[in-house]
Amino acid sequence: MSEILNKHDFSFQKKYGQNFLQDYKIPRRIAAECTEYTGGGGEKIPALILEIGPGAGILTKELAAVFEKVVAVEIDRSLEPVLAEALEGYDNTEVVFGDVMETDIQALLKERRMSGDKMLPVSVCANLPYYITTPILTRLVEDCGCFDYITVMVQKEVAQRLTSAPGSADYGSITASMGLYGSFKRLFAVPSGCFYPRPKVDSAVIRFTTYRPAKYSDSEIKAAQRLIKAAFSVRRKTLVNALCGIVSLDKAEIAKIISDTLGCGESVRGEKLSPDDFVKLAKALEGYME
Ligand code: SAM
Repeated sequence: MSEILNKHDFSFQKKYGQNFLQDYKIPRRIAAECTEYTGGGGEKIPALILEIGPGAGILTKELAAVFEKVVAVEIDRSLEPVLAEALEGYDNTEVVFGDVMETDIQALLKERRMSGDKMLPVSVCANLPYYITTPILTRLVEDCGCFDYITVMVQKEVAQRLTSAPGSADYGSITASMGLYGSFKRLFAVPSGCFYPRPKVDSAVIRFTTYRPAKYSDSEIKAAQRLIKAAFSVRRKTLVNALCGIVSLDKAEIAKIISDTLGCGESVRGEKLSPDDFVKLAKALEGYME
């Protein structure tokens, strides 16, 4: 990999979170575990994978060996000659240059996911740039809604947060909020020495599986998210106190609804509640939310 980067005078840009995987072993494992789609008997798996940040194409190649199509979005145009050379002969790959946060992903995939007259299922696989992990994941999970699996390499601490259970120290609003759409699973750890340049932190690969069919309606999700936002904005407050600002009931009435709906006492804090609990509570408070 370093040869091709040197040949094209590539310089790593910290602002783009460019820590590239050094050899094929981790990317191969990611490609093998990034979905639970089953293959077509020795053929490539009929699915389209959206990769974010192909870098020098090391993961792109492994994905291309497994899946029917790979579309990769890369922000850094200086990688164009590198990727052109690295992906030569990989005819089922396409690189689109642009910022993934500004890309209309639905429009990008609309025609590309067609294979003859069949529509391919789509999933995401990426070694994410760590400076925008959460905004990217939020966008993919909450705004796009079309991905069956989202498999990403993230900083170890973020992996811990996203895969943590209600009540644990790492459980946060993003865990609860994304838990309305699907569930995260930790796949494996990746030490910092696997990257160049070597980052200061270790990493882990996690996989998000979208609920199919969706577990909750859009309006249930919207209402639950209002509660999640309120509950986690003041982490040390009890849930009753946190909800006072958004519910037109007095504290005793809120406490009674919490107790009747979830069987919890007055002192319960938001971080103990599962995504399911937030949905139940939002339903019970319907009509009282300001
Ligand atoms: N996939 C490569 C690998 O595993 O070696 C590179 C991963 S590197 C951690 C992150 C990649 O994301 C870089 O290539 C970087 O230029 C790209 N990137 C950073 N911000 C981006 C954005 N907003 N949109 C698209 N790509 C981005």
